[in-house]
Amino acid sequence: MDPWPIGVFASIDAGLGVQLDVAHGLKVPTIHLHAPAPNTRTAAHADQFLQKLDRLGIRLTAVFGGFDGESYADIPTTQRTVGLVPRESRAERTREMLEIADFARRLGCDVVALHLGFIPHRSTDRKSFEEVVDVTRRVCDHCAANQQRLHLETGQETADELLDFLQRTQRDNLFVNFDPANMILYGTGNPIEALRKVGPHVRSVHCKDGTWAARPGVEWGRETPLGEGDVGFENFLRTLHEIGYQGPLTIEREIAAEPERQKSDIGAAIELLNRLKSRILT
Ligand code: MG
Repeated sequence: MDPWPIGVFASIDAGLGVQLDVAHGLKVPTIHLHAPAPNTRTAAHADQFLQKLDRLGIRLTAVFGGFDGESYADIPTTQRTVGLVPRESRAERTREMLEIADFARRLGCDVVALHLGFIPHRSTDRKSFEEVVDVTRRVCDHCAANQQRLHLETGQETADELLDFLQRTQRDNLFVNFDPANMILYGTGNPIEALRKVGPHVRSVHCKDGTWAARPGVEWGRETPLGEGDVGFENFLRTLHEIGYQGPLTIEREIAAEPERQKSDIGAAIELLNRLKSRILT
């Protein structure tokens, strides 16, 4: 496989990604898929979906878990509602995450990923931290039995906190999906410095851009079209090259309510990434 195939974040029914036909229309060869709604995670749907991917010549490189009741409305709401961290929904969502991993296996996909949520601080809330370590181990072990890896989406922790969490969890199929814009949107650190730190653990990336908030970490930064935010994509790609990353460059543009604009922004992002690829890889 050539290094850095272009990808796009896609959805069938749930999630903020583009539809498969849009990916195909833009000649994108790989996708990350937002896990479809629970009632469509069936063997029959999996077969249909695989046939469609095959027909369109698209390769599925990761399936992302997402859950009912999650809201990214603002940072405190995200903290309260997202991932496996909120205690009241943890058991049910964990069950669902294992089911998503099994659905991904049916699709022949060896990578499952998610936003774990805001991992509690080990120094101030040891008990909650250990609970999240335990649940992550459980998901990792289920994925390992499926011969899958689990990738954690970045942004909700600083690079140092994420490294500490990976080390404490001690699972050799646990890796990182690096999203540089999230570091900016959540205000958790300079994405290039963070990428250098967690580099050895990075096995997939999102190409998304954004600008810093006036009060980082308190309010959201703003997601922008690729190349118009504060990530610095040439620098980002050069750093990926430095750390030896060769996997897909999966574009995320989270404006599903504006499908035309989403499509044209992704088209422009593909052009930008291809320009940078030819400059950096040759
Ligand atoms: Mg992302």
